[in-house]
Parts: sequence; C-alpha cells; structure tokens
Amino acid sequence: MPPTGSDSGREELKGRLKQLIENKRVVVFSKSSCPFCIQVKQLFKSLDVQCHVEELDLQDDGVTIQDVLFEMTGQKTVPNVFVNKSHVGGCDKTLEAHKNGLLKKLLEGEEKYDYDLIVIGGGSGGLACSKEAASLGKKVMVLDFVVPTPQGTTWGLGGTCVNVGCIPKKLMHQAALHGHSLQDSRKFGWEFSEKVQHNWEAMTEAIQNYIGSLNWGYRVALRDKAVTYLNSFGEFVEPHKIKATDKRGKETFHTAAYFVLATGERPRYLGVPGDKEYCITSDDLFSLSYCPGKTLVVGASYVALECAGFLAGIGLDVTVMVRSILLRGFDQQMANNAGKYMEENGVKFIKKFVPTKIEQLEAGQPGRLKVTAKSTESEDTIQGEYNTVLIAVGRDACTGKIGLEKVGVKVNEKNGKIPVNDEEQTNVPHVYAIGDILDGKLELTPIAIQAGKLLARRLFGGSSIKCDYINVPTTVFTPLEYGCCGLSEEKAIEFYGEGSIEVYHSNFWPLEWTVPGGSNNSCYSKIICNKLDRERIVGLHVLGPNAGEITQGFAAAMKCGITKEQLDSTIGIHPTCAEVFTTMEISKRSGADITQRGC
Ligand code: FAD
Ligand code: NAP
Repeated sequence: MPPTGSDSGREELKGRLKQLIENKRVVVFSKSSCPFCIQVKQLFKSLDVQCHVEELDLQDDGVTIQDVLFEMTGQKTVPNVFVNKSHVGGCDKTLEAHKNGLLKKLLEGEEKYDYDLIVIGGGSGGLACSKEAASLGKKVMVLDFVVPTPQGTTWGLGGTCVNVGCIPKKLMHQAALHGHSLQDSRKFGWEFSEKVQHNWEAMTEAIQNYIGSLNWGYRVALRDKAVTYLNSFGEFVEPHKIKATDKRGKETFHTAAYFVLATGERPRYLGVPGDKEYCITSDDLFSLSYCPGKTLVVGASYVALECAGFLAGIGLDVTVMVRSILLRGFDQQMANNAGKYMEENGVKFIKKFVPTKIEQLEAGQPGRLKVTAKSTESEDTIQGEYNTVLIAVGRDACTGKIGLEKVGVKVNEKNGKIPVNDEEQTNVPHVYAIGDILDGKLELTPIAIQAGKLLARRLFGGSSIKCDYINVPTTVFTPLEYGCCGLSEEKAIEFYGEGSIEVYHSNFWPLEWTVPGGSNNSCYSKIICNKLDRERIVGLHVLGPNAGEITQGFAAAMKCGITKEQLDSTIGIHPTCAEVFTTMEISKRSGADITQRGC
C-alpha cells in the first residue's frame, strides 16, 4: 500500500473514506477530547442513532484524513458529519440541521427521495451528468425548459450548444467558408455563371432540420438510459424538493438526495430604449425565418465576432460596434489580427461607441431600425440605419429564479454565478453546479460535459477524478479562425515576468491560398515558452484556416507538458498549416523578419 502522504496514497485514502461514507448511515470524523465532537455524538445518542465514529487523534493517518476531508468538503475542522452520504458539516451545522428538520429527513434515508439525482437544466453539462449517473444505476430526473426570448424564439432539448450556440454557429461559419471557396475555386479552374447568391432560408432550414434530429437523439438517449425527462422549469421549494412547472402551468413536485444545477446562461440586453422590442440576440439569429439584411452587431467577444464573421461571409453588410477592445481576455495581438482580417474582408468596425437608443423606422422582415450611439471617450453621438441589430454583449447566468435562497446556495451577487469547490460542490453539500453558471470557470461545451460526467462518477461511481480546468483549448470561429491553448502573451508576462519567457512566432501562407492569390501574411502562429522550465510551452496561438483542428492536437501535447525542444524534434506533415509549429525558429525578441514570400 502506498504511504498515505503520497499522491496515490491520498487518492486511495480518499477512496476508503468515500466507501465509508457510502456504506455507513452516519459517519462522524471526530477527536476524542473535542467538546464539539462530544456534543454531536451525544446528539446522535439522544436520537438513538448509531454512528460510525473515526477518532482522528487516535489514528496514525488522522492528520492526512483531515487534509483529505478538507479536499472533499472544504471543511478541515472536526466534527465532520455525514448522514446517508450527505455531508452535513460541523457541530453548528449538525445542530442547525437537527433544529430545522433536515437531519431527520437525511436520517430517514435516501429511499425516502423520489430520485437519487435531479439535474436542473438539460444542456451540455446536465445531459452528460444525468446520463452518466443513470449508467451507474442511479434513479435520475433531468428538467429542461426554454423560456422564450423577447422575440418569442424557443427550441428543443439539448441546451445552448446544440440549439443556439456551437452547432448552428459552426454550420453558418461553414456556409460562409463555402462562399469564400466558391470564389477561390475559379482560380482552380471551376467555371460557373457570375451570379452567385446565398439563400438564408435554405441554409437556416437545413441547419434547423439537423438540430431537430439532435433534439430527438437526446430524448431517445435519455429514454434508453431510463432517465426521467421533464420539459418543465425547475426551482427549489425545500432543500431536497423541487417544483416543476410545465408550459401549461401544471406543477409537480419531486425530491432527490442530490441536485446538480446546470441551468446555463442567456443573452444579456443593453438596457437601452428599444433593445428588447426591436433587437435580436444569438438566441434568435440561428432560426430567423428571414435574412437579417444590413446588420449591426453590438459587442466584441466570441459571439459578436463569430456572428459578424459569418453574416459578412454570406454576403451581408455587417458593422460591429465595439465598446473597448476585441476579445477581452484573449491574446491581444491575436485578437487584433483576427479583427484586421475581418476588416480586410468587408466587416466594418465602429470602435469605442455604445448604443443608447434603438428606434423602429419601418416594421418588416427585416424592417428598418435607427441606432443612436455615443462615444465612450467623448460627447460625440452617431446614428445609423440597419435592418437588424444583433446584441451580443455577454450572457447572464440563469440562477435568479430557481429558488436557491430556499436551500441557502450562495451566489456571487456581482455576476449571479455560483461559486463551487474543486469538486463542483456548492456551499450546500447535496447541491452541485456545473457548466456556464460556475463562478470563475470557462464557458465552453466540452468543459460542461467533462465536469458533468466526472461529477456523476465521483458521486455514484467511487471515482475521485476531478475536472481539470487548466490548459483548456478553445477556438474563436471568426472568418480566419483563432485557436489557442494556455496563456496569452500578456498573462504569461504577468505570471512569469518578461525576462522569463521566450516567444517564437511565424507568419504562414496556407498552400491552398497561394493559387487563388490569398494574402500571404494574414496567418500567424506563436508559442510562448517558460525559459525557467526547459522552454516548456505555456501558451500556443494560431490564426489560420482550421485553427480549431490544429489547436486540439497541440493541446494534448501541452497537457503532457511539451517543451520547445520536443516540438522542434517533431516532424511536420507537409504541406499543412500545422507544420509551422515544428519549424519555429524566430523569437519575437530578435525582431527578425517573419513575413512569408512562399509557402
Ligand atoms: P446550457 O447548454 O446553456 O444548458 C442549460 C439548459 O438549462 C438550457 O436548455 C436552459 O433552457 C435550461 N434551463 C435553465 N433554467 C432552467 C430551469 N430552471 N429549469 C429547467 N431548465 C432550465 N462553446 C464551445 O465549446 N464551442 C463553441 O463553438 C461555442 N459556441 C457558442 C456560440 C454561441 C452563440 C453561444 C451563445 C455559446 C457558445 N458556446 C460554445 C458556449 C456553450 O454553448 C456553453 O458553454 C454550453 O452550452 C454550456 O452548457 P451548460 O450545460 O452549462 O448550459
Ligand atoms: P463575453 O465574453 O462576456 O463578452 C461580452 C462582450 O460584450 C465584450 O466584448 C464586451 O465589451 C461587450 N459588452 C458588454 N457590455 C456592453 C455594453 N453595454 N455595450 C457594448 N458592449 C458591451 O460574452 P460572449 O461573447 O457572449 O461569450 C460568452 C461565453 O460564451 C464566452 O465566454 C465563451 O466561453 C462562450 N462562447 C464560446 C465560443 C467558442 O468556443 N467558439 C463561441 C461563443 C461563445 P468589453 O470588452 O468592453 O467589456
């Protein structure tokens, strides 16, 4: 058996503790002379409840057990009490639970509950978690309900990614890329009549049909795994009880031992006159029954730039109104290069302005809107006319109306997000949260799925593997895609100091672009290396075609701790864009020329 101080020893110890908690009705981690522990043990005695007591001061590995309990529960002190697999807490919390009736309910056992697990929210995270828990033999319910947008748009099971996020976005990005390829194809000998036009309705119908098949697939998968699915809005009414309200207003009540919150986010509005009446958001765009026409996109992050990119790519007149910078939080050199390429390809940018009023000039599909905006730097105002205004100024967590106050789940008042420990557990032990509603975590589909799956395995499968939020790769699907993994150059400098990092970079010219005469210096790649750690790569960035596909593979290498030397010794695949990373010789510091004259 490995020593309990070692990593594997701790994991083994954690497994043992979990088994204990899983198998005993009441477990009290105690110290023999602690007065609070004595009080708790007396309480159970007075209730005539037998408890399994672990006196940590009398055990060799007592200190390590306390550390591991801290990892598991966020509580280091004793007593540390578990009842029927639920973490109750210390002396005060146990006495409080006794007073408010929770202890009685917990002692009555899980069979008292309708379900082992209820998941509120059937999006990326919720579906993954509920299916995994059901595969582990648990009785699971998942609720998913879409509140219609102010424009009345609604959709089916599967959450944001499938219905109004990643999937339709990437397909519309693809529609735009096809337009570009059509133009390039002439140079490769394709001949077709000059008039090429795009049909919005045909594209949207095809994409919506595909989404419909995914919605259906999710329902079937839930049925196959025996997960109970309710198309109802869930909210807590008691610590272990929720109310489910369907679209006709019919209410039902359900109880569970554990809850997972996975309610995701919805687009934020500007809060200026006319925004909810006349503007749309990404929640409306992908199923819009008519072509949006001349469009103003407000915002400058992922959603705004991606939507602006594909709308321009299918031939629309598109303007982006930027409050401050592009892609806040991303490497700014890369963000600006992505924006520059958009600008060179027809997207207009109005920088340092925010809308103050949206008025309808003419109703219709699309109609005509007048937008008034003010400068963020002066008293200047401007006006413009557009057919459609797409607001993409961020998203709000759906945590306000789900009765969290009835259970005592803490929410970060500033942003409505839920703080959790590294096991996705909220401050209320039997309530967990995953996905976009987590405070300080990334808002990406694969993260929500991974966190949901691993959580179910930890809750019901005896696993101790946690979701790793470090070095998560991501791609912004702008017309020229921007993929990255790890730190931006700014963050790396902040973290390691400018002298401790070396940045290697290169422009590259995709072979596919040479014949059509595409720009030879738009594509750019860079790696950021930690000089103090054998030039381990701490940031990787690429702006070019298929950047998402490229970044995925290098992200796996970064997970394994790849260094610059190992990257140099990797043989490239020729002729590809990704091979640029295997031949990066020029450091940014050197100032040497990186422009490409041939591929
Ligand atoms: P969601 O998928 O949003 O699911 C939450 C579900 O819960 C929703 O169906 C909601 O209606 C439901 N719900 C809310 N409250 C209740 C309630 N009280 N009762 C019942 N049901 C409720 N990520 C990527 O990785 N790649 C991308 O390319 C990408 N593109 C995106 C493009 C756009 C336009 C947007 C908006 C997002 C994109 N994302 C992308 C982000 C990704 O969609 C989210 O990170 C992911 O969907 C989060 O999953 P989730 O389970 O937390 O929430
Ligand atoms: P976001 O990252 O929160 O960005 C909000 C943008 O709106 C910023 O540019 C911000 O500008 C601007 N803004 C905020 N308030 C404004 C106002 N009042 N007026 C004008 N502009 C304003 O939001 P998001 O783009 O909606 O993305 C949400 C999350 O979804 C992302 O974090 C991402 O994880 C996920 N997502 C992922 C993908 C992908 O993987 N490809 C795609 C889309 C979304 P400032 O910089 O000035 O604050």
